[in-house]
Amino acid sequence: MSKPQPPVQKNETVELTFEDLTHEGNGVGKVNGYPLFVPYGLPGEKGKVKVIKVKKNFGFGKLLEVEEPSPERVEPPCDVFYQCGGCQIQHMSYDMQLSMKRNQVESSMHKVGHLSHVPVHPTIGMEDPWRYRNKVQIPVGKDGDGLKTGFYRKRSHDIINMDTCVIQDEKNDRMVEAVRRIAEKHGLQAYDEEKHRGTLRHIMVRTGQTTGDVMVVIITKTKELPHKNDIVEEIRQTYPDVKSIVHNVNPKRTNVVMGDQTTILWGEKYIKDRIGDIEFMISPKSFYQVNPNQTKQLYDKALEYADLQGHETVIDAYCGIGTISLFLAQKAKKVYGVEVVGPAVSDAKKNAKLNGLENAEFFVGEAEKVFPWWKSQGLDPDVIVVDPPRKGCDESLLQAMIEMKPNKIVYVSCNPSTLARDLRILEDGGFETQEVQPVDMFPQTGHIECVSWLKRK
Ligand code: SAH
Repeated sequence: MSKPQPPVQKNETVELTFEDLTHEGNGVGKVNGYPLFVPYGLPGEKGKVKVIKVKKNFGFGKLLEVEEPSPERVEPPCDVFYQCGGCQIQHMSYDMQLSMKRNQVESSMHKVGHLSHVPVHPTIGMEDPWRYRNKVQIPVGKDGDGLKTGFYRKRSHDIINMDTCVIQDEKNDRMVEAVRRIAEKHGLQAYDEEKHRGTLRHIMVRTGQTTGDVMVVIITKTKELPHKNDIVEEIRQTYPDVKSIVHNVNPKRTNVVMGDQTTILWGEKYIKDRIGDIEFMISPKSFYQVNPNQTKQLYDKALEYADLQGHETVIDAYCGIGTISLFLAQKAKKVYGVEVVGPAVSDAKKNAKLNGLENAEFFVGEAEKVFPWWKSQGLDPDVIVVDPPRKGCDESLLQAMIEMKPNKIVYVSCNPSTLARDLRILEDGGFETQEVQPVDMFPQTGHIECVSWLKRK
């Protein structure tokens, strides 16, 4: 017997009513039960859709016209929103963004983790969900005889010329523009990815939002940065806020932005920033949260969940430059951090000293390997905090955590589905998930961050 054919054909135009949203924030509407995923469609809306891809059980469409707009539809303030791959949901009211993120976390809890009993709180949002990013890393391309800077078009490496990015700190925007202009004046050539030729690849700018410090990193394919003294001098004259000007060399054919060779051209090796009462030194290649205001919200929740009284031993796995560890160290007897990137651990140690926190110790290694060693050394933590990358915790780490029998686990996550998967394993190992709190670290984009905690049964 032949399978029923999809009820639509490629290039056909259909009328659709959107019922739901996907994880990426695409609208979902059905034709005779056959779902079509359509970017920028919002639940409750009716629209004309061109079918662009037909698969066996679902298809994709392009929104041609919205006939009955949702009250939650808003005009995106960015001129290139519909071309750029950076933001996905500027067309949604902020309230809708927050509730969509909460719903997605809840749905992962149900479907992936079978954890229907766990309360998922309303997302903690920002008062002003714009211009929050403290770091920009922007590719440079050729524009006639000059240079352009901008983000990549969706699913491509074409650079869209862009004057401003509405989720960036304004200082970063202006710095990028200044460096582009100065480089252009000195005749620097843009790097050509296809031919693997040219000089200037990326401009990176990071701002300490509480200190006002700015770091500029100029990334070239070539070992030399032509006219470097003039370029440094002109950047300093244009923006006296700049604390550090850095040259990084990346000679490889790769999507990775920075290479191995970093030289300080002028100023400090680090810039500083504060989250709450803790000060951090951030070097050019360190991971540092891009939205420090919301990071404070996230860490405050993690700290509230850990509920430290001062006598506890705490492990912070995936600790980066020690941001969460040092927050915890203010309230705990002792904190052990583990992180796989060596230079991040050196930063973590420096940051502990900078803040006079002598009860935090940091180790380089894979958390899943260091935990069994810690256990063999008799380390007996009261609380374990984890903050893994998107793929979640290694299964062997979860088993080691279960065997260590802490009273509490606090789990910070940037991916609700791996969070739900891992919580299920911890539940089966004798822990009980108490609650999940989404915190909006990345407004206007589809990214979701949450913090959750478990108690040992
Ligand atoms: N808690 C930090 C960093 C979180 S990002 C903060 O809030 O700033 C996740 C970190 O996990 C990164 O620094 C990454 O280098 C590290 N990492 C990735 N895999 C790891 C592993 N197997 N063991 C230890 N750290 C790891």
